[in-house]
Amino acid sequence: MIQGEVIRVSGPVVHAGGLRGSKMYDVVMVGEEALTGEVIRLDQDVAIIQVYEDTTGLGTGEVVENTGEPLRVELGPGLLTSIYDGVQRPLPLLAEQSGDFISRGLRVPGIDHSRRWEFEPVAREGDAVGPGDVLGTVREYHLEHRILVPPGVSGTLESVSDGSLTVDDVVARLDGERPIPMVQAWPVRKGRPYARKLDPSLPLVTGQRIFDSLFPIAKGGTAMIPGGFGTGKTVSEQTLARWADAHVVVYIGCGERGNEMTDVLSEFPELVDPRTGNPLIERTIMIANTSNMPVAAREASIYTGITMAEYYRDQGYDVALLADSTSRWGEALREVSGRLEEMPGEEGYPAYLAARLAAFYERAGRTACLGAGDRAGSVTVVGAVSPPGGDFSEPITQNTLRIVGTFWALDTNLAYRRHFPSVSWIKSHSLYLDSLKDWYSASVAPDWVALRDRTMYLLQKEAELQEVVQLVGPDALPEGEKAVLEVTRMLREDFLQQSAYSLVDGFCPLEKQYLMLKAILAYYDAAVATMGRGVALRQVLALPEKNEIARMKEQYDAPRIRDLIESIGVSARALEAER
Ligand code: ADP
Ligand code: MG
Repeated sequence: MIQGEVIRVSGPVVHAGGLRGSKMYDVVMVGEEALTGEVIRLDQDVAIIQVYEDTTGLGTGEVVENTGEPLRVELGPGLLTSIYDGVQRPLPLLAEQSGDFISRGLRVPGIDHSRRWEFEPVAREGDAVGPGDVLGTVREYHLEHRILVPPGVSGTLESVSDGSLTVDDVVARLDGERPIPMVQAWPVRKGRPYARKLDPSLPLVTGQRIFDSLFPIAKGGTAMIPGGFGTGKTVSEQTLARWADAHVVVYIGCGERGNEMTDVLSEFPELVDPRTGNPLIERTIMIANTSNMPVAAREASIYTGITMAEYYRDQGYDVALLADSTSRWGEALREVSGRLEEMPGEEGYPAYLAARLAAFYERAGRTACLGAGDRAGSVTVVGAVSPPGGDFSEPITQNTLRIVGTFWALDTNLAYRRHFPSVSWIKSHSLYLDSLKDWYSASVAPDWVALRDRTMYLLQKEAELQEVVQLVGPDALPEGEKAVLEVTRMLREDFLQQSAYSLVDGFCPLEKQYLMLKAILAYYDAAVATMGRGVALRQVLALPEKNEIARMKEQYDAPRIRDLIESIGVSARALEAER
C-alpha cells in the first residue's frame, strides 16, 4: 500500500506527498481519523485529494494511505429503503454510532451483511453463463431482485446455491473454483455496461398534466427543472418521486437544506403507491448530502446514486433518478477547482463543467440488458437546477440545457401568482414528443397529438393576445379572440394548475388528462361554431358546462367527463336552435 503524508490542507482539498504510483480517482484514507478521499490530480509524487468528510483539524504530517481502489458502491439486495450519505454510508447507522453530528472516519457497509435473503435459483449446474445472465432471485420487498452474473465474468456453472443466504454468501460457483457472491462492488465513476441503447419510445408517466400532456419525458430520458428560489423545484422532484411510474426511485438531495430532506424522510414512509398499493418507501433509495454536509461529497453522491440506478436497470427495471439540485454539485466542482487554482472558465466554473454534466446525463437511457432473455431497463434522470436569481443564462442552466431532452422551466411570475406547478408553457420544451407520439396514439387516444398541438397553439396565441390587451385593453378585441382568452384561462386554471398536495388531483391518470383537454377544446369548438351562427360569446359563457369544467380535476372521473363533453355539444346546438 502506498503511504504518504499531508503537506497542505485547503478546505476539502488536501495535498499529500510521497504518493508516487497513485492513480487518478484512487481512494485514499487521510490523516489519523482516516477520512475518505479521492485522488483528483497527480503531480509527481504529490497527490491532490478531495476529501468527502470535514477536514477541520487535519494537520500537515498526518499519514495518508492509498487503498489502490477506486470509489465503489456495494450493490445487492438491501439498497431499497436505505438512506445514504454521498459515499453510501447508511445515515441511520452513522447516527446510531456517533449521534446527530456524524463523527469522521466511520466505516459502515452500504448494505446489511448479516441479513438473510431467500435465494431462488434460476440457473442450473452445467449452464454456460455470461455477464448479465440471471443466476437467481431474492424478494426485496415487492421487487423480484435479480442476481446477475457480474460484467466481465463468464464460464460454466459448477454449482448454484439455494435458500437462505447473506449477501456475502456464494450464490453460484463457476468452473475453476470461481465463486460469485450475491453482493457486487462497482466503481461509481464508470457506467455499468449494457447490450445497446433503445429508442426513447415509452413515456415516464408522472400523473402531472403539464409534464405528461405538454412536455413529456421518455423512460430513459433526461430532464432539467430550472427555477429560482421558491418556484417549486423540490416539490416537483418530490412529486415525481411519488408518482413516476418507475419500479425504483433514487432520490438525491444534493446540497439543499437539510429540513427538506427531513420532510421527505418523514412523509415517505406513510405514502402508498397508488398503482401497487405498496408503501412508496419500498421502491426508494435516498441519498442525502445536504448543505451542512461536506461539499466534495456532493459529487460522489451523484455518482453513487446513478450507479445504484444502473444496477436495477440491469435487472430489467425502470428507474427514476431525481437530483435536487445539480447546481450545488456544480458549485462544489467550482469550489474544488478554485482551490486547485485551475484556470477558471465562465463565472468561475471549471472548463470541464460541461463535460462532467454531459458524462453524467449520458448514463441515462433505456437499454437492452446484458445477458440472455429480452430484458430492457431504463434510467431516467431529472435534475433540478437552481440558477442564482432565477437567471437562466448562467453556466449550469445553459450547459444542462444543451444535453437534456426535456426542459421544464419554472417561472418566477407564475409561482408568485401561485400558479402551480409553475412550469412555463412558453419556455419549456420536450424533444421526446416525436418518439412518444405512437405510444400516446395507441395507448391514450389516436387524436392525442392533435389535441396537444391545438392546446399549445392556443396557449401561444394567448401570450400574443395578452400583449395586445396590455396596449389597447380587452374590449378592443374581436369576439373570436375574446373566446380564445376565455378558453386559455380554462386551460391554465382548470387544466395546467395542479396542486401537489391535493389527495384527488395530485396524480391525474393519462386518460383523464386527455378527456379534460378534450372537454375544454370541445367547449372552445362549440363557442366558435355557435358564434359563427350569430350566438353571442356572452351566451356561450353562460352555459352551465363552463362551471363544470372547473370542477373536473377535483370532482370528475373519466365517465363523467365523457358525459360533460356530450352535454357541451347538446347545449351548443340548443343555443343555435334558439336563434
Ligand atoms: P424550490 O425548491 O424551487 O425553492 P419549493 O419546491 O420548495 O421551491 O416550492 C416552494 C413552495 O411553492 C412550496 O412550499 C409550495 O407551497 C409551493 N409549490 C410548489 N410547487 C407546487 C405544486 N405543484 N403544488 C402546490 N404548491 C406548490
Ligand atoms: Mg428546493
